[in-house]
Formats: sequence, structure tokens, C-alpha cells
Amino acid sequence: MKIIVIGAGMIGASLTWELTQAGLAVTVMDAGEAGKGTSANSFAWVNSHSKPPAAYHRLNAAGMQAHRELARRFGQAPWLNLCGCLEWRSADQQQAMEDNLHQLKQLAYPAERINAQQLQQYEPQLRLTGDEGVIGWFPSEGWLDTQQYIQQLLQASAASGAKIVTGSKVMEIVQSGDTVTGVRTADGVFHAADLTINASGRWSDKPPYHGALATRLAPTTGILIRVPADCVPVSHIMATPLFHCRPDGDGVTLLCPNEGVYDIDETTSAAEVNRLAEDILRHASQVWPKLSELKPEQYQARMGIRALPVDGYPLVGPTAGINGYYTVVTHSGVTLSPLLARLVTQEILGTPASELDDYRPGREVTD
Ligand SMILES: Cc1cc2nc3c(=O)[nH]c(=O)nc-3n(C[C@H](O)[C@H](O)[C@H](O)COP(=O)(O)OP(=O)(O)OC[C@H]3O[C@@H](n4cnc5c(N)ncnc54)[C@H](O)[C@@H]3O)c2cc1C
Repeated sequence: MKIIVIGAGMIGASLTWELTQAGLAVTVMDAGEAGKGTSANSFAWVNSHSKPPAAYHRLNAAGMQAHRELARRFGQAPWLNLCGCLEWRSADQQQAMEDNLHQLKQLAYPAERINAQQLQQYEPQLRLTGDEGVIGWFPSEGWLDTQQYIQQLLQASAASGAKIVTGSKVMEIVQSGDTVTGVRTADGVFHAADLTINASGRWSDKPPYHGALATRLAPTTGILIRVPADCVPVSHIMATPLFHCRPDGDGVTLLCPNEGVYDIDETTSAAEVNRLAEDILRHASQVWPKLSELKPEQYQARMGIRALPVDGYPLVGPTAGINGYYTVVTHSGVTLSPLLARLVTQEILGTPASELDDYRPGREVTD
């Protein structure tokens, strides 16, 4: 079976590797460089932390487990950093924090309540304000170096026979009646395939996808700020009332204001993103005082756009009434990629994956 995967981000790279391991002939195509879409602008926290309902929590927990298994299959996984996460919330969120810890424990998810002294032991250079309240410790969580992951999975796929084509935009999904027969790229060439997979993330609702082939997305945005690690010397993921932060390798710490803190969207200008970054860094300097000395040229702020289906849940599966076509588009794609790739490969080889039943593209969704 010949398969074309459109998009070489976290999802496309994971699919390419898993399908190639199963002995299938895979070509992955990307309009730009591999891994430079949303996967390059992600907080990349591998977790199943606040992901209701229980079935979606379990899917993400299985995603975390799939990362550990993938690491074992590779023998080493320098991209996976299972450092654990510390979380505390604002005064009005204390009950919600208690409830979350309680629910996660009931779901047998590693979650522990710790005190401020223990928090200080985990992060000795953090300046505590005394109003941290309920503090959670989630030892099984971590973060992923998405660029390393994508490059290494694609390299391993190429070594097993996959074709990796970058700088080649798919302009048309070619159909013959009810069957997708392949794609046409910007150079006008037709590439035949028995199965075409839409792994185009936040572009999966735009041309060349149309009608039933297109996803329905409601993207949201986030700001990612890279600062020198000596200003924010953290060794764990930290989820605080205003922002998340974590180590990012190479002497860098990544900060991300929490969703809803700023009212931004895809049209927000780079100048405004920089102004908001300056604002969050000013707030963050209360716990990391060295940030107040940081000059604008010493940090970098970028916007990331989430590939968020309208109901927030993954879109994975074939499209009813159309042969030769399959969609894999999701938020939380860093956590879910290796699991989805494994389940999708299982389905393509002929065994339906019931874990995906709630996430079929044709389901009824309300905006
Ligand atoms: C601010 C932010 C924070 C996030 N935090 C987390 C987190 O903490 N944990 C987590 O699990 N997830 C997180 N996510 C989500 C996660 O990053 C995404 O779900 C994941 O990166 C999506 O990967 P993807 O491969 O689907 O998309 P992408 O990485 O965007 O890849 C899609 C690729 O398709 C290519 N493409 C599109 N159209 C075409 C075409 N016509 N022809 C050829 N190529 C095409 C693009 O060039 C792109 O490279 C976050 C996202 C954002 C924005």
C-alpha cells in the first residue's frame, strides 16, 4: 500500500515512522521545512493534567505511556525530558486545584499535594510569595524537544525507506468519484497513493482541503517567550497562576502566559506580542527577580496557533463516503502523537481502534 502523509509536524513525523515500521511505503510531504509549523511553537508539555472527560484523560495518559514505549523502542530518546511538573493557582482557583488533584488520584494518575517547603526544595531559586496555596506535584510529566523528535523520527523513517519531501506544497487532493487517488503538488506533478492522510494541523481546514475533506477548526493562540535560563533557572515544568514555564535546553527557559490571560488571536501584530511578552515578564519577575534586568534583545517572543477542532477534541479517522482518505488533526498533539500514530497504523492494517471511536471526523459537533 502506498501512503502519502501531508504535513511533517509532530503528527506527520510520528505517522511516517510508525507506518514505515509496519512495512508500508510512505511519502511525507511538507510545504515548508519539517517541524516548523505549530510543532515549533508549542509549550510541548507531555501530560494528561486537566483533560476532561475521563476518556480523553485516559487517551492523553496513554499518549504519555506511548512516549515512554517509543523511547524504549529507539533505545534512547534525548528528546523526552520527564522532569515532572509543579503547579499552583490563584486564590479563587484553590477549590478547583483541590478537585483536580482528587480527580487525578482517583484516575490513578501520579499526582501529589506538596507544601511550600517541598516546592522550594524542587526549585531552590524560586522566590515564594507565601500565597501559593494548594501545590501539586505531577512526577510522570515532562516536555518534549519537538525539533529533535521530528528530525530523528524522519531520519529513522528515511533509513527504513520512507520518502521525505520538504518545500513541496500540496495544491490539490485528487479524486476520482468517491475515491482520493493522490495529490498534486505546486510543481504540477501528480503523486498517486492508495491512502492520503491529512496531517496538516492548523492548515487542515484550508485549501486544498474542501467539503468533507476539510476539518472544522477554532484555533486559539499562545505566546511563547524564550529567555536565558540564568534569569529563570528552573528544572521542572511549572504551572503558575499567570504563566507556565520550563527548561528548553541549551541555556534557555520557555515561558508561556496561561490561556485567557491576554486577549489575542491570529491577527495580533508582532509588536503587540512583544508588548504582552514584556508585561508577563514584568509579572514573572516577582518570582524570578533577575527577569527585571532582562533587555528586549535578550529574549524572543513568538505566537503559536493551536490546531484546535471546534469541540476541542481530536479528529482521527476516515471520512464517510470517501475512500483512500484519512484525517489526523488534534490539539495536545505533542502528548498524543506516538499513540495516535500507533492506533492509526493498526487501523490502516485492518484492525479498528476503539480508543478512537469518540474522535471520528464525521461526529456531531457544536461550536
Ligand atoms: C501555544 C501552544 C502551546 C501548546 N502546548 C502544548 C502542550 O503543552 N502539550 C501538547 O501536547 N500540545 C501542545 N500544543 C499543541 C501541539 O503543539 C500541536 O497539537 C502539535 O504540534 C500539532 O502538530 P501537527 O503535526 O498536527 O501540526 P504542525 O506542526 O503544524 O504540522 C503541520 C504541517 O503541515 C504542513 N502543511 C500544511 N498544509 C500543507 C500542504 N497543503 N502541503 C504540504 N504541507 C502542508 C505545514 O507546513 C506543517 O509543517 C500547543 C500548541 C500551541 C500553539
